[in-house]
Amino acid sequence: MARDSNCIFCKIIAAEVPAAVVYEDDSILAFLDIGPLADGHLLVIPLEHYTRLTDVPPERCAQMASVLPFLGRAVLEVTKSEGFNVLLNQGAVAGQAVPHIHFHIIPRRKDDQLGYRWKAGKYPEGRASQLAAAYQAALAHHAS
Ligand code: 5GP
Ligand code: ZN
Repeated sequence: MARDSNCIFCKIIAAEVPAAVVYEDDSILAFLDIGPLADGHLLVIPLEHYTRLTDVPPERCAQMASVLPFLGRAVLEVTKSEGFNVLLNQGAVAGQAVPHIHFHIIPRRKDDQLGYRWKAGKYPEGRASQLAAAYQAALAHHAS
């Protein structure tokens, strides 16, 4: 299984660095984030080292996604939170600090002050259909 000897998450997988593991199977590991945005913040990673979501084979991605419902239920139960955000940062510009892909599961509760800068925009006339056509063309070439 591909690993990067400099990668902190590969070291956690190899038990060379300790982590508070909450779930493991033959392809996935979930553990507590060492710098939680909220009590119980989890990270979900593939055992195989991938830096970018866009490099992950669909089957591996499906395995990662398949654990989200039951890990999410555990988050709600254990942290007594009212909801959660699932987040994956790809690229430094998006906030990715660890180059081994991971879903964050971040417990949320009312008035927790964990807001987003979610400044919704508005498409000018024609831009949305132009973008949709560009996406459809790109996906026709790159569909996996
Ligand atoms: P990113 O910014 O790449 O999406 O998120 C990386 C996350 O990994 C951060 O939230 C950070 O707190 C967490 N993290 C970094 N190093 C370690 C570590 O050694 N152990 C654990 N459990 N989490 C880590
Ligand atoms: Zn790694």
